Amino acid sequence: MGNSNSEVSRRRFLTASATGLVAAGLANLTPGATFAQITEKETAGSTDNIIYRTLGRTGMKVPVVSMGAGACNDPSVLQAAYEVGMRHYDTAANYQFGANEQLVGSVLHRMGVRDKCIIGSKIYTPQQRRNLTTEQAKKKLMSLTEGTLKRLKSDYVDILYIHMVDNRDTVADDAIREAMARIKADGKARALGISTHTNMADVIDEVAKDDFWDVVLTSINFTMADDTALLTAINKAADRGVGFVGMKTMAGGGRWPNPDTRQSYDQPTITAALLKWVLNNKNIHTIIPGFNNHQHLREDFAVATNLTLTDMEKRFLSDNNVKLGMGFCRQCRKCLASCPNDADVPTLMRTHMYAAQYADFYLARQALAEISGHKGITACVSCDACAVVCANAVNVRERINELKLMYA
Ligand code: SF4
Repeated sequence: MGNSNSEVSRRRFLTASATGLVAAGLANLTPGATFAQITEKETAGSTDNIIYRTLGRTGMKVPVVSMGAGACNDPSVLQAAYEVGMRHYDTAANYQFGANEQLVGSVLHRMGVRDKCIIGSKIYTPQQRRNLTTEQAKKKLMSLTEGTLKRLKSDYVDILYIHMVDNRDTVADDAIREAMARIKADGKARALGISTHTNMADVIDEVAKDDFWDVVLTSINFTMADDTALLTAINKAADRGVGFVGMKTMAGGGRWPNPDTRQSYDQPTITAALLKWVLNNKNIHTIIPGFNNHQHLREDFAVATNLTLTDMEKRFLSDNNVKLGMGFCRQCRKCLASCPNDADVPTLMRTHMYAAQYADFYLARQALAEISGHKGITACVSCDACAVVCANAVNVRERINELKLMYA
């Protein structure tokens, strides 16, 4: 990192961050501790304090906090992320109709730092891989990869993921593996990965059966603390050398907590607690919180220098009302069989998260289009059968009614 302008900018940024916390009165939240324990004194040397982990067998070293760039449309935020020390950007071919890959590619290209950064991108969504023959699948993967490279302005992508995998068959699929192996052998992808936010334990267990997939991008957050199948699968795969990137780390509602939660906890405490909880699992090598402004960048990256939970953050994580208030749908799909009208409740809950919490209506539309083999919004008649089986207190009735107002 040296004494580059970037380092100067990073120091200035972190100093501003700490000063802002003092100005906001957050430094006195708990006796003897401040948010992420960043003080002016520590900030002076904080470039050396960024915590790095190695992404499994890829050998790539990444700061524990990376950028989920998917919702970002401001080049200055991407540039600032690099300047403070972020080195890993996550995007996807279908984010913002390809414009997100273009943004990431053009900013890193303009800054002349492509070779200093790790870009992860995702291709081949469930809709794109439906009903293809083996040959069609291989061709599709090749052409999607070319499109991604063109938009990224790069002749390689560091991690190329198969997007939204929710079953073992896709992980083991010969056509996918053959095409992806070819892409890697041609130098177009340095590492191959699977992204998953549904049925994660099964998907990860399948990944751990051999050494084909290098990285898993998985949904993980504090509402899953009791999901022993997932946590065990992660440990097993990490022991085998799989690199893990965490997403959905803020349980969908971290930036938009319900009013009751906000009365008891300020936003920096909520952000730090949620991100630190994930990173206190050493097998999660980095996380990709999404942000589109400088304030959220500051809040998220502050965690990269100190993972110790403050007393207030511990209180937040152990507050049962917080978890109940969030009502995060962890996509366990246990409620599917309970619906007498065959509604795809988990996909509807993910649609709601994208629309109401991310304000990303394109992703919401895409999630709706994924529904196959089950029924959509109008099948729900608010009978609450799913609420009986849901261990995560997801308010399905309220959320589907909101979706009906938007889409039905
Ligand atoms: S609504 Fe509840 S039971 Fe249904 S998938 Fe989500 S967390 Fe699981």
